[in-house]
Amino acid sequence: MEQIVRNIWNSHQILLASHENPDGDAIGALLALGLFLESIGKKIIMYNASPIPAVYNFLPCVDTITSKLNSVKPYDAAIILDCGNIDRVGEMADKISRIPVIINIDHHITNTLFGTCHLVDPEACASAALVFHLINEMGGKISKDIATCIYTGILTDTGSFRFSNTKKRTFSICEDLMSCGVEPFEVARHVYGTYSLGRIKLLNMALESIEISPNGKLSFMTLTQKMLKETGTHPEDADGVINYARRIEDIKIAVLIQELEDNHPATYSNGSCSTGSCSDDKYHVSLRSNGKIDVAKIAMAFGGGGHINASGFTTKAGLGELKNMITEMADKNSELCIAN
Ligand code: 5GP
Ligand code: MN
Repeated sequence: MEQIVRNIWNSHQILLASHENPDGDAIGALLALGLFLESIGKKIIMYNASPIPAVYNFLPCVDTITSKLNSVKPYDAAIILDCGNIDRVGEMADKISRIPVIINIDHHITNTLFGTCHLVDPEACASAALVFHLINEMGGKISKDIATCIYTGILTDTGSFRFSNTKKRTFSICEDLMSCGVEPFEVARHVYGTYSLGRIKLLNMALESIEISPNGKLSFMTLTQKMLKETGTHPEDADGVINYARRIEDIKIAVLIQELEDNHPATYSNGSCSTGSCSDDKYHVSLRSNGKIDVAKIAMAFGGGGHINASGFTTKAGLGELKNMITEMADKNSELCIAN
């Protein structure tokens, strides 16, 4: 923490970035820290490779997040938020990693501890919670806007305070955030309140697609590009649908397979893509479990990562082959406790 604070004070132009296909935590943590650094006079740019899902449009200054970076030359430091490895930043990862000081702030158990210094705490409920601690450590003031961004990160990453990362500390941070002016009802209204008709139809298709593995322990949902086109939706409209597959009785691992667009941007232009997404990857796979079943292990075996109960990866494998590989891996790996 001290090293990070020192590096921030010593930097003039700072680039902040979070993972592609951002969720509420990736956006909340990015905006909260960006707004704070601006308030203390730093020149900053907030970068995310992907479009921001519409449900987060209510967040302050969300339209200042840019997906275009011409050059990384002006920046003397980069702060990478909510990324288990630097490739998660997306197509600019290579360039960004050349910035002289890289600060890694994250809560994924699979974090590779990349960068000059890191604040990585797998016990933290959200990267936004780590931003809260960092601002306090710097003696900063948390405005209502900053608090709203942090709260959004915590709300979404804890699945509305339902997942196992919800701790006593989580509520104590949220109590402080309310003292800074956060209105939980308003945030929830924006994040969960209104869905397009297309999103509801997509949910229907996702539910229709549920298949149970022969051993009865895994549930698979599959979403194709055709389904997105038919319903006029985007990948982020599938946020949270995997939780239906997870809730099914006796299911140990829920899997959501989402077909990627042809020629989606690759992490690397040089053809090496051992850990990031490659342009010829066909599917993004999300994995969810409950309790001790560690799906981060499965994701890592496929070159991805995440948390014990929520992880993901992208792959070139075909659909049938992919389902078989995941089922087999879950069955064979006794450490996953799937038999219990
Ligand atoms: P989701 O299934 O919602 O995309 O992601 C679940 C968790 O796994 C998130 O914490 C996310 O950051 C992580 N994750 C998802 N996809 C990937 C991936 O391709 N690589 C890595 N390292 N982590 C991923
Ligand atoms: Mn997160």
